[in-house]
Formats: sequence, structure tokens, C-alpha cells
Amino acid sequence: MKVAAMVKTAFPTNGRSWPELAQEMEAMKAGDVDWRGGRSPLYVFGATDEVANVARDAFNMYFTENALGANRAFGSLRRMEDEVLAATLELFSAPPEASAIFTTGGSESLILAVQAARDFNRRNHDRASARNVVVPYTAHPGFDKGGRLMDIEIRRVAAGADGRADVAAMADACDAGTIMIAGSAPCFPHGLIDPIPALSDLAVSRNLWLHVDACVGGFIAPFARALGRDLPAFDFACPGVRSISADLHKFGYCPKPASTLSFRDEAARDAATFDFDNWPNGRFATATLAGTRPGGAVAGAWAVMNFLGRDGYLELTRRALAMADAYAAGISEIPGLKLWAQPDLTILNWGSPSLDIFAISQKMHDRGWLPGLTRNPAGMHLMASLLHEPVREAYLSDLAACVDIVRKQPASGDGQNRGVSYN
Ligand SMILES: *Cc1c(COP(=O)(O)O)cnc(C)c1O
Repeated sequence: MKVAAMVKTAFPTNGRSWPELAQEMEAMKAGDVDWRGGRSPLYVFGATDEVANVARDAFNMYFTENALGANRAFGSLRRMEDEVLAATLELFSAPPEASAIFTTGGSESLILAVQAARDFNRRNHDRASARNVVVPYTAHPGFDKGGRLMDIEIRRVAAGADGRADVAAMADACDAGTIMIAGSAPCFPHGLIDPIPALSDLAVSRNLWLHVDACVGGFIAPFARALGRDLPAFDFACPGVRSISADLHKFGYCPKPASTLSFRDEAARDAATFDFDNWPNGRFATATLAGTRPGGAVAGAWAVMNFLGRDGYLELTRRALAMADAYAAGISEIPGLKLWAQPDLTILNWGSPSLDIFAISQKMHDRGWLPGLTRNPAGMHLMASLLHEPVREAYLSDLAACVDIVRKQPASGDGQNRGVSYN
């Protein structure tokens, strides 16, 4: 498959003034999705204007600094990065010997987790040639990206009827070549947390590395549990969990690009570190894929985390869950629609047993709502953050109206959203 063709323009001849450029950029932006108005079902996360301002100001304060130089040049970045990572480890019930890395995003965290598991297996087990990772069908493509880079097979195992990882089937898919198993907390497609305690038992009994992909849930699920939401344990409290990915730039409400990768112990973290000395400029050691990294992302994460504190995250989580539950109730009340899963957190996925859901989503698109879509089962998808709070009633009434239209005029079956695509 080819991605959209690139538009090729000439190198700019004469420089132009910033006011002119700014005006042109504002005009270009006018054609983008109105995320501030809650019309984007993914890509952007929001809490409050206050949080967004702290994130932006802190990022700009460190706009030029490079986190690659945190050890030798920017002690402030070293301190802020360590504090953000220590707080993250505490959130995940990590033991004292645990350690973590600040990355540019969930994909980088997943790729590094796969690489760390591979090298850990090489060093500590007789599995030098081990070459596969077993994940549920609902896992993020970041695993496969890592698999392609490292020539590791990613085995996707169908989820159970409840949409969660089928642990018995995953156990069957493991063999002597398995270096890692993984579950999500929650998975992106259905918003469901996989049965991590059962995956942990499997990991312990077979001596396998269990990675928990909490990219989207890492900074909301712990607070949801603290608020009394009935969710299974998914962190280092489960003894088989060796690593956890959690994105600060999602429900941590921190500026992009910012994610974390936490390890149960130093040996696991060491397996991720690239430590090199054979070139003129001396030792080069990083735990990330990226070399140069934006200081602003580290500073922004530190400022947002300290601005909110545990209390702030609890309050935002309470609001986000109440909002998502209200969306879920509203969708369930529309005749013809059915939630494919009762959401564990704030990701909603629904379809229709009787109507063409893609025709409905096309009608929503026509009304200015960029639809999120899923296959298997065919459905609409919304990863709700507080940006979607003010527009809930407008969204639900448009959705009900679109369902009505499709019920009265059965679709031709060629809605342009039929090719489900994440980006
Ligand atoms: C978003 C997401 C990722 C990847 O994160 P990026 O920051 O987009 O690279 C991984 N796993 C899950 C479950 C996600 O939702």
C-alpha cells in the first residue's frame, strides 16, 4: 500500500516576514480538524486551559535545551527527568530496584521494550536465537514496528469473546523462541484492560518477560483505581510484569513528545541501554532511540506533573470517567447502536447489529465530526478526553440524527470511510 503522494514545491526563493508567515499558517490551520471544539476522536488530549498553559510555558522555557546533554550540560533537565520517572515508578508500585527511561512516545517505548527483552534473553537465558513476541490482536502496531526493525516475529493472537486478551490461546502461541508476551492497559481499539494478573501467572510459570502497554492508560488507570473503579491490577504488583510503557503526552496531559518505559530492575533497564565507545568523540550512552531530544518535553512533563499533583490527576480522572460514562449511556440509548464493550476507562467503541455503522460515521463526518473507526467488529471509536466534555450533547444528538437518516435511507454500501485507517 502506498501512502498519500507528497506535494513537491520549490525551495523558497526570498525570505518573508514572520507576520506574513504567521498569517499564512493561521489560514492553513483553518482547514484542520477543530480539536479544541472536540471534533477529533484521537491525536490530541486535553485537560484544562490552565494545564495547557503550564505545559506550553514550561516547554517554551526549555525550547532550546537538549535532553541529550542532561548529564554534562543541563543538570536541571537531569533532575526534572529523574523526578518525573521516579513519580511514574511510584505510580506503578515499582520495587526499589526499578528504573525507567524518558522517551519520545509510546512507539519508541514499545520498540525499546522489545529490544530490551531480546537482549535480556540473550544475556540471561539460553535463548540466544529466540525470535518471537506474543501479543493480543488488539495490541498497538508499535510492537510490529519493533519486530520489523529487529527481525522479530510478532504473533497476534485473537482476543476472547469479551474483547480482552485470551490468555490460554496466548499460552498456546508461546514456544521456546518466545522472548516476550504483552497485554494492554487498556488496548486502544476497545478501551479494555487485558487480564494482566493471568498474563503475569503465565509469564512467571514460563519465565517469560511480560510487557504491559499502558501507553494510553498509564496516567489515568491508577487514579481510576484509587477512585474505586473496579479494574484489575496491571502494574509491578503483578510479579510477572517486567516492563510498562506509559505515555505522558496522553492522559498525563504533558506536551508531546513524552512517554516513559519502566523496568522492574536495573538489569532489565541495562538491556535497553546503548553504550558505545568506538569513535573519536568518546563514550556515547543513551537508553533512547533518539539522540537529541527536546528539553521542552522533559520540562513540560515536570511542570504539568507538579502543577497537578496526585489531587489534580484524581480530579481530572473523576471528570473524565464521568464524561465517558455519560457518552456510553447516551450511545446505548440510541436505538440501533450497541457498545461493543463497556469501557474500562475513556475509550468508547460501538457499532450496530442492524445498520451500516460506516454509513452512520460518514454522516457524522459530513456534520464536521472526524470519525474514529474500527474493524473486527465494525464500529465507531472515540478516545474521549476533557476536550469532548462540552460537546457531548451536540455529539449525541448528531449521532442520533445520523442513525435516523441511515435507518430511513439504507446505505449504498460505498461510504468513503470503509477503508478503516488510524492516520
Ligand atoms: C498511543 C498508543 C501507543 C503509541 O504511542 P505513540 O505515542 O503514538 O507512539 C501505544 N500503545 C497504545 C495502547 C496507545 O494507545
